[in-house]
Amino acid sequence: SRPANDNTTVGTSIQQGTTNYHTTSFVFSPQILQKLKSTFGLNSFRLCQEGVINAAMDGRDIVCVMPTGGGKSLTYQLPAVMGSGLTVVISPLLALIWDQVRALKEIGVECVMMTGATSTSEQNTIYERMKNGASRGEKEIRLCYVTPEKVSKSKRLISTLEKVNENGRLRRFVIGKLKIMDCTTYMLTSYIDEAHCCSQLGHDFRPDYKKLSMLKTLFPRVPIQAVTATLSSKTLPDLLKILRLGPITDGNSAKSSGTVFFSAPLFRPNLHYKVLPKPSNAKMAISAMGQWIQDNHPGQSGIIYCLSKKDAETVADELRDWSNGDIKTGVYHAGIEDYEKERIHVKWREGRINVICATIAFGLGIDKGDVRYMSKSLEGYYQETGRAGRDGANSDCVLFYRGQDAARLSSLTYADVEGSGKLQEMLKFAQDLKTCRKVAFAKYFSASAHLSASAWDAPDTLSSSSGTTSTCGICDNCTRNPGSIISKDVTIEAWKILKVTRAVQTEQGRVTLTNLSDLARGLGGGMFNVIGGEGRKGKRKANGEKEKFDINSIGGKIALGKDDTETLIIHLLLLGYLQDYNVNVYIIPSDTAFRLTRLRLEDIEDRPPVKIECIFPAPKVKKTKTKRGKEGDGADEDDKEVSEADVEDDEGEGDGEHEE
Ligand code: ADP
Ligand code: MG
Ligand code: ZN
Repeated sequence: SRPANDNTTVGTSIQQGTTNYHTTSFVFSPQILQKLKSTFGLNSFRLCQEGVINAAMDGRDIVCVMPTGGGKSLTYQLPAVMGSGLTVVISPLLALIWDQVRALKEIGVECVMMTGATSTSEQNTIYERMKNGASRGEKEIRLCYVTPEKVSKSKRLISTLEKVNENGRLRRFVIGKLKIMDCTTYMLTSYIDEAHCCSQLGHDFRPDYKKLSMLKTLFPRVPIQAVTATLSSKTLPDLLKILRLGPITDGNSAKSSGTVFFSAPLFRPNLHYKVLPKPSNAKMAISAMGQWIQDNHPGQSGIIYCLSKKDAETVADELRDWSNGDIKTGVYHAGIEDYEKERIHVKWREGRINVICATIAFGLGIDKGDVRYMSKSLEGYYQETGRAGRDGANSDCVLFYRGQDAARLSSLTYADVEGSGKLQEMLKFAQDLKTCRKVAFAKYFSASAHLSASAWDAPDTLSSSSGTTSTCGICDNCTRNPGSIISKDVTIEAWKILKVTRAVQTEQGRVTLTNLSDLARGLGGGMFNVIGGEGRKGKRKANGEKEKFDINSIGGKIALGKDDTETLIIHLLLLGYLQDYNVNVYIIPSDTAFRLTRLRLEDIEDRPPVKIECIFPAPKVKKTKTKRGKEGDGADEDDKEVSEADVEDDEGEGDGEHEE
């Protein structure tokens, strides 16, 4: 739709300064459109696909940043099937490799993969075919998918590629999933993934990626195309350096030399972001999720992201039981054998499984168009929700959230400063019942210097001028009925919570979120209802009784329900009045404790902190009246008090899930 540049033909345009790649007036344009239809069955391009494909056809080095589901694959698959020659796609993700190879074979594209699991005889055949090209009646291999390890370790692969190159048939290298290199700057996303990347994968993957620098050395004339959904302005220079790519120029007016950069808006209007309250009782949480699925997406495909392998298994079992088998569930995590993963993947694709309960191991590179809903706990929200609605139809991205998740996640990000900063961002997002989700994402991305805020709206250009992000009009906060939330002045409640914290701290006790909430609400037994080690015994009176916390010492209990109290405690954490810390190195995830930030100790002596307001979901109108003997000041949504010990899921062995 943009006007064609004067220099419309390949070759001449390159010599003359700048090229506009967003045009259909290249000599190869008609064939491209024809292949788009005949091979891929598509009618038009999306986002910056056309520009990227034109630049690829022009033989340029390319960096392409497009959101998950944006259609990055087509940008190298289509050029790969034009003309002749071999495109080598390097990706660390086996799921992505399987998925793409299968899909390409289905549409009749000659492609192969080589991974650690490829047998020697298979490899021999592949190498022969690569070298021979289209000779002897064999079809030419158009795409070969390999892992970075294969490239860096297999001399045979390299020498084969050298031969292919000598014959002038090595068309392009494509490098995908670059975020592995970028583990310290990740989007509003999985803290666990990230922590893991930093601590383990970082070491495993980086050397192999670094070795990819040899591609430009060995094959200086073979273009490289890097595609990713997560690339920050900070890591772009690293990427260019590692891959030995020239300085970037904007895809809209590409200079004759250097790397052409394309990016597409990250906001996807078909994704409807929502945060829903997650009941604190595990059974109620399952039925809330199940009910939501049955009400909104019966029989449709979805993913529920869970925090740990064990969670994924439990949720899958309980959701199936809750629905009497109507919701067909499957489990997917790093502990599942590869063949089983593939089986589940196929079943899900064919609709024999509705919901996959997964850790972040699932979905990286998975291409299924009709995922209609997602719900998850706290991690990986943005990145993972990108997997919904790839076919462009409306899809829900739901975060089931409760304050308790924060405590649990916080222990997983312990010792990872960056991770805990991001956790705070996520908590802010989850607790915010007012700001448009799109605006919140945009703010996050600009604040963390990933991309300019306008990247959410602007057309695909690197240097897009700043602009304010408009609200989306479709997220929960944009469409919220004003009556569904209430803003309360909770200064006194906040003050009391801080005083309880201080009282416990003064006695060298420790409180978790639940402990603190219980104590402030006049519940919970011992003052040292604390965690781990000696603390578990609690402080005893002379007669051996557990010493009770005297609620009157802080002026009486607070008048908030359990959920609201937890929300307020997290709010105080986000405001900087409280901090969370881990008790010991043998972390039990639920054991994150809360204490006052040092500065505030004396601030709260005899007066409340500055006015504190907090927004809570409005209490639901109860259908059935329950006998509630006590004073009804709690505004509690729980029908009866259930002690945390009864309802808390078993936290397992305490190792937070670490995934690839
Ligand atoms: P990404 O790699 O960016 O996450 P994919 O390449 O896997 O995204 O594409 C996501 C989905 O979008 C796929 O189902 C693909 O078939 C579809 N798709 C890609 N390009 C187009 C297009 N131009 N028109 C319609 N659908 C497309
Ligand atoms: Mg992809
Ligand atoms: Zn909105």
